[in-house]
Amino acid sequence: MSPVTAYTGRFAPTPSGYLHFGSLVAALASYLDARAAGGRWLLRMEDLDPPREVPGAQDAILRTLETYGFVWDGVVERQSDRHAAYAAAVDDLLARGLAYPCNCSRKQLEGQAIYPGTCRDAGRPLADAAIRLRVPDAEYRFLDRVQGEFAQNLAREVGDFVIRRRDGLFAYQLAVVLDDAWQGITDVVRGADLLDSTPRQLYLQELLGLPRPRYLHIPLLLQPDGHKLGKSYRSPPLPADQAPALLARALRALGQRPPDELADGDAAAVLAWGVRHWNVAAIARQTTLAEAAVR
Ligand code: GLU
Repeated sequence: MSPVTAYTGRFAPTPSGYLHFGSLVAALASYLDARAAGGRWLLRMEDLDPPREVPGAQDAILRTLETYGFVWDGVVERQSDRHAAYAAAVDDLLARGLAYPCNCSRKQLEGQAIYPGTCRDAGRPLADAAIRLRVPDAEYRFLDRVQGEFAQNLAREVGDFVIRRRDGLFAYQLAVVLDDAWQGITDVVRGADLLDSTPRQLYLQELLGLPRPRYLHIPLLLQPDGHKLGKSYRSPPLPADQAPALLARALRALGQRPPDELADGDAAAVLAWGVRHWNVAAIARQTTLAEAAVR
């Protein structure tokens, strides 16, 4: 019998670019939290959006993780292999009247912070339409392990959101809840840019009868200009020859205090130190952090 582990974590990069320092910090947090709990750590490529994918990025991300000493469990899953599951969920939500086709154009929605519900009860045809999920006028809340209590009223703060785009691509919100459940993820550790996606994911879990994982959102690193690290600029891949020093810096970004000499060792030794000393209480209870502050 295979051993039952109470903890399964994951790192779920989007191959729209190479692994940058911000994503290294996210990978490290999810890895340390899983390993410190004696748990499994899975890797999932979130390759939902081929037009935004950088050729070669998937391989480059995996090679960088290896160079930085990360060892994952099982095979790397890819969202591009999971379309049948996503399509089945969309059909189910449509059949239950919980989702509906929407053919509003981008122009029609211009300037609207929240979808006004134009197509909600309009009985639009399925062809050439996005699929939106009806959201209730209700608050969805959870207790984040770092950020504390977080709540959102879905109708007032989010609105009916897209689960399948008009071009047929599935939305992250839908794919992530299906995959986390399918992979048996008990703990989601990721950047705080996704904090305000979580209530949408809780609602989808409820509708689809999926378990709710625990959540831990780490502060997002910001560049001096206030942009999220790595997203607005095409960051180069992380250098292969600076793994120990950059891992030590990533530990500091998570509030951990690695000894200076650790950066002179190898990547595996930094990770091993990180697992032994992992202290969630030391992570800043902030949604953002200036990258310059953790050099
Ligand atoms: N693929 C997402 C990203 O790279 C992360 C999704 C998640 O961790 O839920 O930002």
